[in-house]
Amino acid sequence: MEEIAPNIFIIKQTIGFKRYKFSVNVFVVAGKNGIVFDSGFGTKKCMKQMDTAIKDITGLMNSRGRSCSIKYAMTSHGHWDHFSGLRNLQKNCGLQILAIKKQLPKISSQKTYLESFSTTDSTRTRRFFSPRFGKLHIPLLCVQFVPDNIKIIKDRDIFMVDDTVWQVFHLPGHDTDDIVLYNEKQGILLGGDLILRSITSWLGPPKSDLAAYVKSLAFVLTLPDIKRILPSHGSPVENPHERISSAIDHRKDRTEQILGLVQKAGNKGIAFNELFGIFYPETKSYQYKTLSGWISVTLDYLVKTGAVCCEESTPFAVYKISDPNFDLNLAWDQLICK
Ligand SMILES: [Zn+2]
Repeated sequence: MEEIAPNIFIIKQTIGFKRYKFSVNVFVVAGKNGIVFDSGFGTKKCMKQMDTAIKDITGLMNSRGRSCSIKYAMTSHGHWDHFSGLRNLQKNCGLQILAIKKQLPKISSQKTYLESFSTTDSTRTRRFFSPRFGKLHIPLLCVQFVPDNIKIIKDRDIFMVDDTVWQVFHLPGHDTDDIVLYNEKQGILLGGDLILRSITSWLGPPKSDLAAYVKSLAFVLTLPDIKRILPSHGSPVENPHERISSAIDHRKDRTEQILGLVQKAGNKGIAFNELFGIFYPETKSYQYKTLSGWISVTLDYLVKTGAVCCEESTPFAVYKISDPNFDLNLAWDQLICK
């Protein structure tokens, strides 16, 4: 546990071993009506780590002559590595769980969680979890759900921790249900998976949406006085404007590349697996799902804009240009300005 900014504490949680370690950050905004943002993993060790951290933070604040009551917990979005610790925070630490409506199916029951990732489109890598992995990963990764007593919050809601304002923003794209918390006074954004310091945020079917993602990034650029983003993985983003602008440009470059390859394929079009092979010629099959995500989401965007059409075929969909006059620069400017 470390105080990463005045009265904001970071708890780094890690699971796995050796080369297969995976970490997530949990943030505690300490003070009267304090907030836990993201809850980390649901393993016994991580739950104990949270119990201890909350006690230690409260003790530290009290030793400074400040009253401290950590009251609320919320998750940045409904991915297992962010919400699995909520149940423990509710049951053992007595915190009130808060969530936007869109997060409910994922965090409240195993059934609705698995349903939320399934889809009828089976032409590509549409099914995020195979039915077998879907059932297996829940006990394997200690995913825990919150079946009751969740209080609904909304985009733009405001929470006061002591005399500091924290505002909720619903910024979808990585998933449909991403929220962030912004404190204008300190210029600090608790950003979830929206933007990470050294790696690109993962995008992939069935829930990511490229246009929504770029719009969300552009929105963060408009927040007054933003100075620091504390993401849920890795270290803080100390240059938010530069980092976000480069992430938006990166997504545009990738979109341009895909569009160029579809154009080059001419009337015959190009199949999804061929496109994948151009970007990742030597990929192990188990990496396919992770790496193909952004390609799929970028193609979806181009199909939605009318630039490209998708012909469903077995085993992979084929993409062709449908609007030769599509202007990516114009389309992108509209995304950023809206
Ligand atoms: Zn995520």
